Amino acid sequence: MSLLPDSIRRLQNAEELLSTFRSLSVCNVCLLRIAGETSPHRIRDSDQLLMALAGADGLDVKPLDVKPLGEAPCPCCFSVLQSDFCSEEFLKKVIDFVKTSGYTMNTFWCSLTLPNAADIRMRAFDEHWDQTCMDNSDARVRSRLSVKDAWKAIVTPVLSSAFAAKWIGHEGLEINLQIDHPEMDDECDPLISHFPKSFQEKRGPDGKMKRVVTRHALENLLKTVSSSEFKDLVKFPPKPLSQPATLTAITCLPCPVYVGGRYLKYSRNISQTPWFIEEERKGDISVEELICRKICDKFEAQSWRFMTSGREDIDVKCLGDGRPFGVELIGAKIAAASETDMQNLEDDINLNTDIAVRYLEVVSRSDMQIIKKGEEEKTKTYVARCQVDRVVTEQDIALLNSHQELSIKQKTPVRVLHRRANTERRKVIHTLSAKLLDSTGQFRLLLKTQAGTYIKEFIHGDFGRTEPSISSLLGQETECEELDVTAVDLVWPPSRQMIQ
Ligand SMILES: [Zn+2]
Repeated sequence: MSLLPDSIRRLQNAEELLSTFRSLSVCNVCLLRIAGETSPHRIRDSDQLLMALAGADGLDVKPLDVKPLGEAPCPCCFSVLQSDFCSEEFLKKVIDFVKTSGYTMNTFWCSLTLPNAADIRMRAFDEHWDQTCMDNSDARVRSRLSVKDAWKAIVTPVLSSAFAAKWIGHEGLEINLQIDHPEMDDECDPLISHFPKSFQEKRGPDGKMKRVVTRHALENLLKTVSSSEFKDLVKFPPKPLSQPATLTAITCLPCPVYVGGRYLKYSRNISQTPWFIEEERKGDISVEELICRKICDKFEAQSWRFMTSGREDIDVKCLGDGRPFGVELIGAKIAAASETDMQNLEDDINLNTDIAVRYLEVVSRSDMQIIKKGEEEKTKTYVARCQVDRVVTEQDIALLNSHQELSIKQKTPVRVLHRRANTERRKVIHTLSAKLLDSTGQFRLLLKTQAGTYIKEFIHGDFGRTEPSISSLLGQETECEELDVTAVDLVWPPSRQMIQ
C-alpha cells in the first residue's frame, strides 16, 4: 500500500506531462496544484515533497523525474507561488506596510488582484493536463486549487502569526495586493476578438472605443467556453515569461467596526441627531455628535453612522438605563479595543454632563439588527408631568388608573406631518399610572407603551387625531409639561444578555 499523496501518485503516472511541464519551468507548487493537491500543508511543503521524491535514494517509491527549476518564472502562476511572492522577505514587506499604516485587526484576509490573463494561463495548463490524461485513470484530477488559494495556503501561517489575527473567509481587514505582469497584457486579445460581445466597449484616453476586459466578464466567458473552443483560441504552451510579476500596490480596506451602548440625555436643549429646519442648523450639538466624534477618534475612523432604538424629542430627557444605540465606523484603522479602552472612552464621553453613555462595547454587524428590531417591537416607559386648567381630583386619578392595556388610534401628529405620511396606527398603552402632584392641576403620569406611540399626542389629543387621549378621558384639555423616557425595554448591547 502506498502512503503517497494522490497528487504525487498522479505525477508519477503522468511522467511525460511532468517532464513537459518542468521543461516549461512550471514551479513545484503549480505541479502539485495541477495534479490536484488540495492540502494546505502539502502545498506549503511542495519543495521538500518534490525534492525528496526526485530520485531520492533509500525511499521505497518510484523516484519522480523532476528537473531542478531554472531561473525563468513559472509560466502558470507567473511567479506568484514562487519566492517572489511567498518568501519571508516578501511577506515582511506586506506586514510592515500594514503595521506602519497603523491598522489593527481582529481578523484579516488578503485579496490578490492578478493580471486578467491569469485565469487564461491557469486554464491552459489545467486543460492540457486533463486532455492528456483523459484515458489515464491513474492521473485524472477531480478538483484543483486556484493560484490564489494556493498562495493563501502558503502565506496564511506567516501572516496570521505576524498580525496575531486569524484569516477567516472574507472577514475583517482586507489587504489587497495588486500584481501585474506586462508580458501578459495582450493575452486576452484572442478571446476578445472571438467573443467581442462578452466585453463592453468603452472610450479610451485616445478617444477610440475599445473592448475592456473586466474580471467578471472574463470569468463568465471562461465558464461557457468549451474545451475545444478554448484550445483553438489559446495555444499551449503559453509563451514563456522572461520576468517575474511585480507587486504594484498594497491597499488596506478596513471592514466597518460596530460599537454598541446605551445613552442617557439629561438636557432638554440637545437633539438626538443634528437638527436642521430648512437647511438651518438648530442648536450647536447633538447626542449623536457628542458620542460619535469621540468613538470615531478612538478607532481612527473616517466617518460614522449612528443608529438608535427610537428617538426622543429635543425637550425630552432620556433617563433610567438609557436608550440603545449603535455606531457603524467606516474606515476604522483600529478594529479591536480592550475593556479598559472602552471604559476610558466611556469616561471621556461622560465628561460632558448633558449626556452619558453606558456599556460601550464592540459588537458585530448582525447585532446591529437588534437595534432596529427594538425600535419596532419593544415597549418603552415614560414619565410625564401633566397640567390641566382645573383642579384635578382623586376621582380623575382613579378614572385614569382604571385604563390598562388601553388601545388607541393615532393619526400622524400634526407636528410631523411635513415629513411623515398621514396614516392612522393602532397602539397600546400597556400600563398607565397617574399620581396627583399638587392641588394646582398637576399630576404625574407613568406610562408603558408599545414602541412608536407618540406620547405627547396621547396626552393632549392632537386636535382629536389621537383617540382616546388623556384630554378626552378627563374631558378637559391636558398639556404635557415635561416628558422623560425612563426605560427602553431592549437587551442591549448584546453582552447584557448574560447579565440579565
Ligand atoms: Zn507556478
